[in-house]
Amino acid sequence: PKEPKVALVTGSTSGIGLAIARRYAEAGYRVAVNGIETPEKAAKALATIGGDTPHAPSYFAANLADSAESTGLASSVLERFGRIDVLVNNAGIQKVAPVDELDPLDFQRIVAVSLDSAFLTIRAALPGMKERGFGRIINIASAHGLRASPFKSAYVATKHAVVGLTKTVALEVAEQGITCNAICPGYVWTPLVAAQVADQARVHGMSEEDVIKKVMLAPQPTRRFVQPEEIAEMAFYLAGEMARSITGTTISIDGGWTAK
Ligand code: NAD
Repeated sequence: PKEPKVALVTGSTSGIGLAIARRYAEAGYRVAVNGIETPEKAAKALATIGGDTPHAPSYFAANLADSAESTGLASSVLERFGRIDVLVNNAGIQKVAPVDELDPLDFQRIVAVSLDSAFLTIRAALPGMKERGFGRIINIASAHGLRASPFKSAYVATKHAVVGLTKTVALEVAEQGITCNAICPGYVWTPLVAAQVADQARVHGMSEEDVIKKVMLAPQPTRRFVQPEEIAEMAFYLAGEMARSITGTTISIDGGWTAK
């Protein structure tokens, strides 16, 4: 029988990452789930993946704001499973504030969690992918990797950088059976977005209801939130054999946002 693929999904105890981990587990992958929660708390999220998958997902706690832990996460997964066939860099955080009021530590933390960790996990996973002549790297960027919005300087800068990293890696390994792509979601209804509503209301001086209508759904022509499962389905497709010619690109799932 064919060996199951091993997938590491960073930041996968919640939202989009959890939906991707679930999709891969359902497809029979061995999935390494990561987050900053204690194993007890993470078990709750893992339980939503369901018991009927061929391999139960494994949890790896690591705080990707710390570069040693990012490298350590990739090493632990390689040690446990011997390989990483699919790497999804999904962990991400947000901070909504005017640029001249943004705490430099928040700026650094956002860069560390999304950009530095992607570089470090890619760096650790690539040698094995090259050896086996197969690899799929999927970076969860954002519509904010392609467009800007006010009050999100750290996030927008980081996501643009993730897109640049994606393209560069794709070029370097294009002849080795490895692809690297960025998925760029618009607003997806997850805890990250729910938590942002109050902050947005404050900086924009609006009610929370108006934030949802006028700030979040206004740039999204479909006027609806994307669901995490829609992102997961694309991550599953990109991980497959048939996606071998898709590399170095951004795939928008944003309800038409970036068509404007
Ligand atoms: P979420 O807050 O629901 O989940 C974030 C996950 O990252 C959690 O599992 C959390 O444990 C983990 N995480 C946070 N800080 C971490 C750290 N320091 N180390 C390790 N893990 C950490 O968020 P989400 O909305 O599912 O977002 C996932 C990704 O998708 C992020 O990169 C985000 O920027 C991106 N994204 C989200 C949206 C959206 O509208 N929700 C849109 C575009 C892009």
